[in-house]
Amino acid sequence: MSTKYIFVTGGVTSSLGKGIISASLAKLLQARGYSVTIQKLDPYINVDPGTLNPYEHGECYVTDDGAETDLDLGHYERFLNVPTSQANNVTTGRIYQTVIEKERRGDYLGKTVQIIPHITDEIKNCVSKLGNKGIYEIVITELGGTVGDIESLPYIEAVRQFRYEQGTNNVMVIHLTLVPYLKAAGELKTKPTQHSVKTLQSQGIQPDILVCRTEHALGEDQKKKIALFCNIQDNAVIESIDASTIYDVPILMQQQELDKVVLNKLELPHREEPSLDMWKQFLTGFKNPKTTVKIGLIGKYVELQDAYKSILEALVHAGVSNAAKVKVVSIHSEELNDENVQETLGELQGLIVAPGFGKRGLDGKIAAIKYARSNDLPFLGICLGMQCSVIEYARNMVGLEGANSVEMDIETNHPVISLMEEQKSVIDMGGTMRLGAYTCKLEEGTLAHRIYGRTEISERHRHRFEFNNDYKSQLEKAGLKTSGINPSTGLVEIVELPEHPFFIGVQFHPEYKSTVANPHPLFTHLVKAAVLAKTAVAVD
Ligand code: GLN
Repeated sequence: MSTKYIFVTGGVTSSLGKGIISASLAKLLQARGYSVTIQKLDPYINVDPGTLNPYEHGECYVTDDGAETDLDLGHYERFLNVPTSQANNVTTGRIYQTVIEKERRGDYLGKTVQIIPHITDEIKNCVSKLGNKGIYEIVITELGGTVGDIESLPYIEAVRQFRYEQGTNNVMVIHLTLVPYLKAAGELKTKPTQHSVKTLQSQGIQPDILVCRTEHALGEDQKKKIALFCNIQDNAVIESIDASTIYDVPILMQQQELDKVVLNKLELPHREEPSLDMWKQFLTGFKNPKTTVKIGLIGKYVELQDAYKSILEALVHAGVSNAAKVKVVSIHSEELNDENVQETLGELQGLIVAPGFGKRGLDGKIAAIKYARSNDLPFLGICLGMQCSVIEYARNMVGLEGANSVEMDIETNHPVISLMEEQKSVIDMGGTMRLGAYTCKLEEGTLAHRIYGRTEISERHRHRFEFNNDYKSQLEKAGLKTSGINPSTGLVEIVELPEHPFFIGVQFHPEYKSTVANPHPLFTHLVKAAVLAKTAVAVD
């Protein structure tokens, strides 16, 4: 199968939504029957984003094969419902690492190793590697960063060479830019776009399509002006107006025929008209909820909109499945304590304690879990959230004073959460957690089993610590059920409270696997329990 390649670059500013545009285009092409994948190339020196904190980078998304990746891969999976892998996210750090390893092995046979050709060759390799798998007709590669940045230069040069080598009908470039609105002048301004395209042209690349991010609709005259000054066909200037939800963007792109312009340029047949019926049904559900539920999200990065991206999106999917709008109430774990917990959580119909690292905010999470446990508030603990639910139970229901995770207190008398055996010799921080998909067996008749409707599941992990099986029988005897176990290691992956309407903690990250087509059952059941909790209060 010969593969066609689409590169998506960004100009003027960052945060224009390249990931959403790439995912939307991929969705339209997929709906026409094309097999498509999306790749993100990130121009930073970290080998992967696993060592970056959420202030730097937002959420770290994890794939089945255990790659710690950019959160845009989450959008790709949520839109396309197709899993991604390590090959879908490559950073400058990884590229340099590969080149330097080759150099040490002597692969370059005495040559001087340079950015051109060695780094650019490696960039091209990363792109063609996906195409050469023989399963994708179209590979969309999103270049992180902004055109004109020093660190983007090798990528742009690699794209230039790649287009020359593969032929201009096999490779195209979509450039995403900003058309700002100047309030004082009452006008949209096209000049930054013109300059950004000039920068690309000076690096040897003429974009084929411009996607213009804007707060106000672009008039025909503005589109014409942009087309004329940037050397773009009239129908290839596409407006990307601020949308009320990211899930509107594929429809907005379809209305402007972005997919048709792309197929024409790549000399590909249009095949069938894309049927986005299911997608539109989802949007109708999203925009016409029958009820609203409030779900608290407790974490220490709640002020950052990208830190818990996949959880927020999973709640959107789950809301639509329940004909409900989920209002997420962000709660900073450091601001929560036993005194204010009733007042803060009293209005909620559900609670999630988020994943996380380190002891900052731990007490707030424990106080919240205690409240959820004793007040029948539907609860889902994810990773650290599950670990906290075990700590809370051990302290308050088993009477193990000072019970803790050794991550928080290395000297705790009761290490109910301890370091995994295979982690004890680990020194490096990068890429060394328990990462990626693992099988979990569910006990029949438990809440977990009812939620999933089967006895074997596979979920993605990202953690170093685990439930300590030395405490399993004590905790079980006191009422904490361990309902999901890793069959090959015996690690506890799920805990729940049979006496509670909905209380479940999972060591893995279900949020990574929720998509528009397949909302995750843990989230749909949490929202369902929240809707029931709301109805119960109304009836009372
Ligand atoms: N810090 C915990 C661990 O490493 C939980 C990690 C997480 O929530 N992703 O085990």
